[in-house]
This record gives sequence, C-alpha cells and structure tokens, in this order.
Amino acid sequence: MSRADLVIRGRRVVLAEHVAAASIHIHNDRIVRVADYDQISSTCELVEADPDSIIMAGLVDTHVHINEPGRTEWEGFLTATQSAAVGGVTTLIDMPLNSIPPTTSVAGFNAKLAAAENKCYVDVGFWGGVVPGNSGELSSLKNAGVFGFKCFLVPSGVDEFPHVTETDLREAMPELARLDSLLIVHAELPGPIENRIPALKSADDYSIFLASRPREAENDAIDLMIRLSREFGTRVHIVHLSSADAIPAIRKAQDEGVKITAETCPHYLHFESETVPSGATEFKCCPPIRERDNRERLWDGLNDGTIAFIVSDHSPCPAVMKLPERGDFLGAWGGIASLQLRLPVVWSESRKRGFTLLDLAKWLCSEPAKQVGMEDRKGSIAEGFDADLVIWNPDQQFEVTPNALLHRHKISPYRGELLQGVVQKTFLRGRKLYDGREVKGPPAGNLLISNSKSQISD
Ligand SMILES: [Zn+2]
Repeated sequence: MSRADLVIRGRRVVLAEHVAAASIHIHNDRIVRVADYDQISSTCELVEADPDSIIMAGLVDTHVHINEPGRTEWEGFLTATQSAAVGGVTTLIDMPLNSIPPTTSVAGFNAKLAAAENKCYVDVGFWGGVVPGNSGELSSLKNAGVFGFKCFLVPSGVDEFPHVTETDLREAMPELARLDSLLIVHAELPGPIENRIPALKSADDYSIFLASRPREAENDAIDLMIRLSREFGTRVHIVHLSSADAIPAIRKAQDEGVKITAETCPHYLHFESETVPSGATEFKCCPPIRERDNRERLWDGLNDGTIAFIVSDHSPCPAVMKLPERGDFLGAWGGIASLQLRLPVVWSESRKRGFTLLDLAKWLCSEPAKQVGMEDRKGSIAEGFDADLVIWNPDQQFEVTPNALLHRHKISPYRGELLQGVVQKTFLRGRKLYDGREVKGPPAGNLLISNSKSQISD
C-alpha cells in the first residue's frame, strides 16, 4: 500500500453504502485507503471537516455547454470550470454544440482540445455530435477520445449543428451500435411543436411558450428512440427529460431490456410553470419547465430509478440574448446556467421529499460517472479512485446573488432563491482547488480522453 501524504477526514463521509465517520488517505492524486476516523498517521497533512459537514465525492456533470472556441463570449473554459469548482464539481463533460466548430469531426474535436488546454480548473471530457451526413466521422471521433455522441431531433438553435431525422438515425445508429458508443438525444420532435406555433410573434406570458413546446413533442420523440434502440441495439440516453408523461414508456422499455436511460435537470425539479413571472425569460429553456404536478412525477421517476441522475444542462448566453427589455419568451434564447448551483438546488429539494445523502451522491456523482464509463475512477469515495472531494455544509442556507456566480453571464432564474447546502472546500485529485473563498490556480484540470475500453487516460 502506498503511504498517504494527505488525509481528509470527517464525521459524515458519503461512502458507497452508508454515511460514516472515516478518514480518506490520499497519495499523489488517488485515494489509497478509506479507514476508520481515528486511523491517521501523524506524519502527513490532515484536513478535518467540521463535525456537521459532509464529505462527498466531487460532483460529475455530464451535460455542460462551454461554447469555446467560437462563442467564447457566451461561456469559456476558464469561467465555466471556476464556476464548477465553487459548485463542488470536479469532472464535467462538454457538449458538442454552440462552439464553432462543433465537435462533429476530428478537426472540431482537436479545436476543442486546443482551446481548452491550460484553461480548465476541473477535469473536462467531451461529447461528439451526430449531424446529418457525418456517420463516416463517428469511428474516428470515437478513436480520438469523445465519450459518446449527441444528436438533436429538433432544430438546436445554431445553424452549424443541424438536427437529425429518422432517416439520418437509421444511418448513424447501426454504426454507433457497432462502436458500442452511447447516443445521447435531445428528445423533442418538430411535428407537435409546429402544430402549436402561436399566432403571436412575441409573448411575455410563460403559458404561451409552454403550450408551444408540448409534452407530446417529448413523448413522441422518446417513443421513436425506444423503437430505434430496440431495432439496432444502440445504447440511447435521453437528456434533460422534462415531460413526466414519458416515464412509463421509458420504464417499460428498460424492463424489456432496451438499452435506454434518462437524466433530468435541477430546474425541472425546483421550479414550476405556474409561478414563472411574466416576461421572466431567464426561466426559458427547451424542453420547458412544466407544471407542479409534472415536477412531482419527475421526482417519482428518480425515486424508482427510471431517471438515473441529475445534470445541470449548464447552457449560458449573453444576457442580451434573453431579451430582458421585451421579456419575450418566444424570441429569447433558451438555456439556464446552473453548473455552480446543482448541489444546493437538488439537495434543498430532495431533503424536503425525504431523500438521503446516498440518493444525492448517486444522482450527482456515481451515476453520471457511470454514464461515461468512469465509474472505476470518478464519482465515489473508494480506494483507487481519484481524490476528487467536496466538503459542504448541508444545513447552512444562502441566497443566490448574481455576483457569487462565476460563470460568464450572471443572469439566472435562481437569483434571490434561498437554498441549503454551502460548498466549503473542493479538492481535485488531492489538491485543494477551492477553499470557500477563492479558486486556486493555475488551472490544473486534465483533458479526459475516453479510450475504446471506456477508460480514461490523461
Ligand atoms: Zn443541453
């Protein structure tokens, strides 16, 4: 056994099966032993958590839009990963669109890697993209190290990342099955949306926007993906599930052995359409935040495991694109930036409903790590894992203020919200990254490269 050079210990450490007092022994960047609280050596550095604080694996967020290169004015690696560090997130996977070029070719992937070099405060990996006509690129993108592939079934909002049709999927999905790559899907179909386009050109009433992105668009898209996954054997994952009506179909498919999983996001679990203020376009995202009853059924889907985990879908843009002066929900850019707030939002809501720290660690850490094949290295506190840790106080309450958010543009529907769960310290591979006041540089995050055995190298 390697000798530890750092021990981090506390009274409430979230381990795989239970929460217990424990000491975490770290050598270089890995956890070498998890021992009883009192089993510490006198020769190494000791970090002691407050008695009430939680020590949990660093959060893994597999749904983050960083937009660099090309739209760095929306968000960049420096600002996004600092925001991650303050939010206790130590691993994130960047989405293949909104940057220019998009990550739909090896050249696009190389542009991402070059742009991210020496700018990441946390470990960062990358999704590739499936767009019409790029099936021939998928194998080389996979070999280059993307963690899987994203597609849209509706227009994505940016011209350089067009959406796919069933015909395109029939070309790409057999190839993805052959590569054993995961296809992650923005599941809304255009048909039901086109049928509901309002006669109005603009609307400050949230209910008009909500009606324009009906649940059927999601439900029908998910039915299509279940059918195609069953036909081709491709592993499929539904991103940002908002329509709880689709949960029974997903569960049934899972029970029948279809390789389909789903995630949802903090904003669908916290907000409700009934109370979105008029003109408050910071609440706009696609698919939309839906009704209170729908939200509670998403919680039920998490409870029974149909929805595997919760990721931020951190999707920032300059404030002006939210059309704040007009308050126009139809014209505003859709997206909510919450990389930094995922822990307190999900904790505040889950503790109200009787969920535990073990549930929280599963949804925020271990299950997202598993999605991208990193379950033997990230997302848990255990021997052999990277020493990525977050120490946080579960009872402390704070008010969300724009100045405390480190991502590029401070516009947020969470502004003024009172949340529980304050991050005190974040460690990345054994190094203190955030001490409760500031993020420590220089940026020392690794760029994560997936290899064909679903492991990572750095
Ligand atoms: Zn997204």
